[in-house]
Amino acid sequence: MPFQIAIDGPVAAGKGTVSRIVAQRLGFLYIDTGAMYRMAAYLAHKNGVSFEDEGKIVELINNAQMEMENPDEDEQDGRLITLILNGEDVSWKVRTEEISQGASIVSTHPKVRQVLVEKQQQIANGQNVVMEGRDITYRVLPDAQLKIFLTANPEARATRRLLQLQLKGFDVTLNNILTEINERDERDMGRSADPLQIVDDAWQLDTSNLEIEEVVEEIVKKAKELQAKNNS
Ligand code: C5P
Repeated sequence: MPFQIAIDGPVAAGKGTVSRIVAQRLGFLYIDTGAMYRMAAYLAHKNGVSFEDEGKIVELINNAQMEMENPDEDEQDGRLITLILNGEDVSWKVRTEEISQGASIVSTHPKVRQVLVEKQQQIANGQNVVMEGRDITYRVLPDAQLKIFLTANPEARATRRLLQLQLKGFDVTLNNILTEINERDERDMGRSADPLQIVDDAWQLDTSNLEIEEVVEEIVKKAKELQAKNNS
């Protein structure tokens, strides 16, 4: 039986960084599902398709090749994952403000979610994974052995995101980021198709006053305890 860790939470709660390190420590596969919604938005943008056009976006996704890989040695530029879309490295191109908002809109479409959830389930099938997103704990991996809702207060989240983006040379301010975070969170929680929610069996972890390493250690410890229990 594979051991699967499902992590949901709002924008910039630290899900990506934490999931990536936890996966490395446990030797599990890391899957960033937000990256798939971002690639869908990028496809729409590149092809001049409106983020609202559900049918065309589904068609674009169905004809696209989306690859997610661990960054190799010459890709150590702060990225958590390398994204190759139809042969193009879009790892950073999908992190702009425009594509972030696009991903947020594109992800409200039920048919887009359906195709991407299927892809996510195929990737995770039979594997030890740490998968993060908004609907992982109840839609993508409802049988995950460890479910986590990772959160932090808006100020902590905005400050972290500001540092990350400034390091990459993006021109952003704390106010822009707070507005973007709030807008995307509201859309994620308010949509009718698989909104962001806290399921009963999720462990809620508030990272506002914790260092990344502390969060990672807590999760790795819990995962190892559960794995040992399952194997006994
Ligand atoms: O996680 P990230 O911020 O990169 O995700 C981009 C957008 O994709 C989010 O704002 C959210 O609207 C959407 N998303 C989603 N379901 C997921 C992962 C991401 O709706 N499982």
